[in-house]
Amino acid sequence: MTKQDSVKPTNFIHQIIEQDIEKNVHGGQVITRFPPEPNGYLHIGHAKSICLNFGTAIKYGGQCHLRFDDTNPEKESQEYIDSIISDVRWLGFQWAGDIRYTSDYFQQLHDWAVYLIKEGKAYVDDLNAEQMREYRGTLTEPGKNSPYRDRSVDENLALFEQMKDGTRPEGSCVLRVKIDMASPNINMRDPVIYRIRHAHHHQSGDQWKIYPSYDFAHGQSDAIEQITHSICTLEFEDHRPLYDWLINNLPVPSQPKQYEFARLNLNYTITSKRKLKQLVDEKHVEGWNDPRMPTISGLRRRGYTPASIRNFCDMIGVTRSNGIVDMAMLESAIRDDLDANAPRAMCVTRPLKVTITNFAEGEEEWFELAAHPKDESMGHRRVSFGRNLLIEQEDFEEVAPRKWKRLAAGEAVRLRGAYVIRCEEVIKNDAGDIIELKCTYDPATKGVNPEGYKANGVIHWVNADHSVPCEVRLYDRLFTEANPESDKSRSFLDFINPESLVVLTGCRAEPSLAEVKPEQNFQFERMGYFCVDQNSTSDNLVFNRTVTLRDSWAKIQQG
Ligand code: ATP
Ligand code: MG
Repeated sequence: MTKQDSVKPTNFIHQIIEQDIEKNVHGGQVITRFPPEPNGYLHIGHAKSICLNFGTAIKYGGQCHLRFDDTNPEKESQEYIDSIISDVRWLGFQWAGDIRYTSDYFQQLHDWAVYLIKEGKAYVDDLNAEQMREYRGTLTEPGKNSPYRDRSVDENLALFEQMKDGTRPEGSCVLRVKIDMASPNINMRDPVIYRIRHAHHHQSGDQWKIYPSYDFAHGQSDAIEQITHSICTLEFEDHRPLYDWLINNLPVPSQPKQYEFARLNLNYTITSKRKLKQLVDEKHVEGWNDPRMPTISGLRRRGYTPASIRNFCDMIGVTRSNGIVDMAMLESAIRDDLDANAPRAMCVTRPLKVTITNFAEGEEEWFELAAHPKDESMGHRRVSFGRNLLIEQEDFEEVAPRKWKRLAAGEAVRLRGAYVIRCEEVIKNDAGDIIELKCTYDPATKGVNPEGYKANGVIHWVNADHSVPCEVRLYDRLFTEANPESDKSRSFLDFINPESLVVLTGCRAEPSLAEVKPEQNFQFERMGYFCVDQNSTSDNLVFNRTVTLRDSWAKIQQG
């Protein structure tokens, strides 16, 4: 972890924990868990939950468990499990003990369901889904009791056994707890705790024909693991009475408590796993780790660092009020990190040929440039100057616009770290496109401007004979609308930014970039922050733009 994130801000959950420690609730212990369902890849919202759960355990000298909440076998897979494990590690966190699975507790959960039946607190219901909805009532009207609610304990035990052994077809009945069909809280109107599903499970195989509901599995798994503070998002607030009811009515080994916080919503993107899966399945993006995806693996491939994501999570804080965080905050977190830690380099993305007519053919001169203007410890890099150079097409205008700080016909500009050059002649092809500039360099300007000298500005460049070819992928925000889900009459897919990926081939980078490794970050001077793509090789060098140097979206929004 870096210095920046060593001082953690406090929040309301930490205040509760500090009171609990003081009063010796849970014997002064703090055990949290991060409980992803392995039905997709983790996204930036999960990072908030990971930082909160693991960060809280670290802060109070406790433990955090990684538990796969795997009660929906049809939607889950080993691929998702593997990606989640790798993402949590990459973010810099280590769980206590083994990785845990709710499926490890299926036998215990089943036995507790049997316990509830024996206590007269659970029953098998044969109402179909539609009838059950009808009986449930509404927010304003109470529900009514199912005609199956008063089955005897023995009958319930026998029926539940049939559900379990697979002799009852899927959907034919469910197990419900008997609480109160008139409760103002719909979650307490005899919620379903077991469903029949003849599905293959990625962990338990074909052993189970019945699967526990989220509500039945979650709190009891917490209790088995001796979780003290079970932290979840606000939509579970109304489930808390059920969480407590189950804990109080079962012979569980500990008394966990649930606390809710507001989930992270980020503009210009989406954080619903279902919709992210749709983007992948319908091939709107390259995959779950496409650098435009708000997934942890996508952010990683985009060039985000673990520290930048942790710092972002600290910056947004933990509260109980729902809001939308500006994407600019996430971008600013990575800019801060890379500004301090990414070495500088030059890369010309859309090359324009520049011939230095007064520099001898075949000669070259090497310059040492600092890898970082403010951090000597990052050392130096060497760039080569020669007769055949390349500059950025957009750094030249034949007739300089007002306040032009780049090259124009007849004008001079400094090449970063080298000489001032002057454009003497503009060469065009038959179509009238500029294809080459004939320039002269001034040997007296090496590194410094002589007194009275006027050059327009500083631009980046490479030596055409001493540079490495590469591909540059300019990534931008995935959606053009701040809230792509707000227009209910249209699909979020309608707002995909058609320019979210622009691929530039034939780019040329300074020679020091020949030997880079995947995931290394750089600032390409004047162009933005870039990282080496994970599939990049020395024969096929690919850089991904992480973020521009400045927030260009703020300007667009202000008009
Ligand atoms: P989805 O609603 O997309 O299906 P989920 O919230 O059900 O996602 P889980 O895998 O169950 O996904 O989430 C694991 C943990 O991460 C849960 O504790 C959940 O509350 C938390 N989490 C999920 N999304 C967010 C978010 N946007 N902000 C904060 N925490 C989140
Ligand atoms: Mg969930």
